Amino acid sequence: MEGFFNRVLHVDLEGRRSWKEEIPDAVFQEFLGGKGLATYLLLRDLKPGLDPLSPDNILIFATGPLTDTLVFGSSRYGVFTKSPLTGLYLESYAGGDVAEFISRTGYDAIVLHGASRKPIFLEISDREIKFHDASHIWGMETYTAEDAIRQELAFAKVGVAVIGPAGENLVRFALIENNYWRSIGRGGAGAVLGSKKVKGIAFHGTQKREVAHPDILMDFWKEIGKKGPQTATAIAYKKFGTPMVVQATNSVGAFPTQYWAKGTFEKWKQISADALLEQCEVKAHACPKCFMACGKISKVKEGRHAGLTIEGPEYETIDALGGICLVDDIREIIYLNDFCDRLGIDTITAGNLAGFTIEASRRKDIGYKLEYGDVDGIAQLFYMMARREGIGAILAEGVKHAAKAWNLEELAVHVKGMDPPGYEPRVLKGMALAYATSDRGACHLRSTFYKAELSGAIPPEQVEGKARTFIDWEDRLTIQDCLILCRFFRDLYLWDEYAILIKGCTGMELSRQEIQALAGRVLNLAREFNLREGMRVAEDTLPPRLLLEKLLDSGKGITSEELSLMLEEYYSLRGWC
Ligand code: SF4
Repeated sequence: MEGFFNRVLHVDLEGRRSWKEEIPDAVFQEFLGGKGLATYLLLRDLKPGLDPLSPDNILIFATGPLTDTLVFGSSRYGVFTKSPLTGLYLESYAGGDVAEFISRTGYDAIVLHGASRKPIFLEISDREIKFHDASHIWGMETYTAEDAIRQELAFAKVGVAVIGPAGENLVRFALIENNYWRSIGRGGAGAVLGSKKVKGIAFHGTQKREVAHPDILMDFWKEIGKKGPQTATAIAYKKFGTPMVVQATNSVGAFPTQYWAKGTFEKWKQISADALLEQCEVKAHACPKCFMACGKISKVKEGRHAGLTIEGPEYETIDALGGICLVDDIREIIYLNDFCDRLGIDTITAGNLAGFTIEASRRKDIGYKLEYGDVDGIAQLFYMMARREGIGAILAEGVKHAAKAWNLEELAVHVKGMDPPGYEPRVLKGMALAYATSDRGACHLRSTFYKAELSGAIPPEQVEGKARTFIDWEDRLTIQDCLILCRFFRDLYLWDEYAILIKGCTGMELSRQEIQALAGRVLNLAREFNLREGMRVAEDTLPPRLLLEKLLDSGKGITSEELSLMLEEYYSLRGWC
């Protein structure tokens, strides 16, 4: 089918062999590509009930039918596996330039099976698969590992994704990183790559996907290129990036603070977008095929981190390292962000674990003392997590494990083992439904429903009737994930635009109802995967603290009844009851 190579590459890491599989059109007609194809493969090829860090787990890199076309926002790839953090379905997506290089290998997805006996890095192209020795780079931080692979291959045109020490040490929230700062962040895909003894993968090739109607995509590109950059959203992303959300959430009391005790941070201005622009030299930076340029290359101007440069920090990182841990200086958040990136750990989980440790050490003797705002102590904790040293060995297993080990399960904030990002579900009640039902645990991205609630499209406190709007967003963004498009194009690409894009790349002429039905089928696959892995429906909930405790500053809360009402409506509309 146009838009696809109709080919998946399977790589056996133990036997050092590979084979190609032809994928029939019927699979793409049913599930499209990206998330749709990868979830179909996961369900088909993964034996139920196995240890996510065993060689039998598979790790899938996937692109979509628009990858490496001219469509704005198409420079993203996805990674799919069974999560070592939740034991359930995992999807994660990253920008940067890697997606285009993966696409040029000529496969819709690349599936890694088994585990190498020795550290390797893979070179995957349209011509061959090479298994390079990586013993000399094993142990390296992410930036140096990426540089080393690039130097060794000496290709000007290569996309490289790597893991850091945390991935090697099977830390259950280890990430995969590309272009230094673009992360397959949540849920521990880096640990799965580490368990396979793969330090990194370099992709290159010359294959170009054929699309059904290049003229349709060209017209679409012209239209979006004309109106897109003038929109208020694009202008704001270019100037402020995601840090602008600090003000938006804090002003409505939805900025998780002091490990989920409050929804506002008194010192929010010091970690806001304005603080970033004041304290750093900031340059807008974009993935290929993007005018939004939400990325911010930030160089600290003064102080103990003067000269330190990263792309970021993103809003969710600012909340996890700033709000949750009461770190009140954007430069220190940049420092901690850099620390996490180098070690290869997810900033959202790392920050939440630091907050949990601070609260735990205040309540009882856990053999370690940490205080809010203690930046160097938090950095040291991250180092120990990544190396599994001391208390880090407990935290490396994730919050669920640490809570059990310290007998503090009532304190821990997570859904299905995954720590939530920076949107307070006691204020943004649709986010309660999002966290409870997302296929990868507490996740803000499946529906990005905070946007609907913060923008006033639907009142945040509304409960009854909310599931219908929520499903509209979730389905629409599921289609984004099957095409693998950037979330920040969600206001420009609505149902009509998806119909144009799908026709342009695949030739399929689908009505809105048919596109939405396709999204529903893909979500059903992910749900089926989780139920097969033993997930119980009762786990579609919030942690007890968020249901029982009110926010200390606003007194706002969400009751079990309110969540149940949203869940019942949601299940009924999804046909899950
Ligand atoms: S909006 Fe940001 S993340 Fe999305 S494609 Fe553009 S630069 Fe990349």
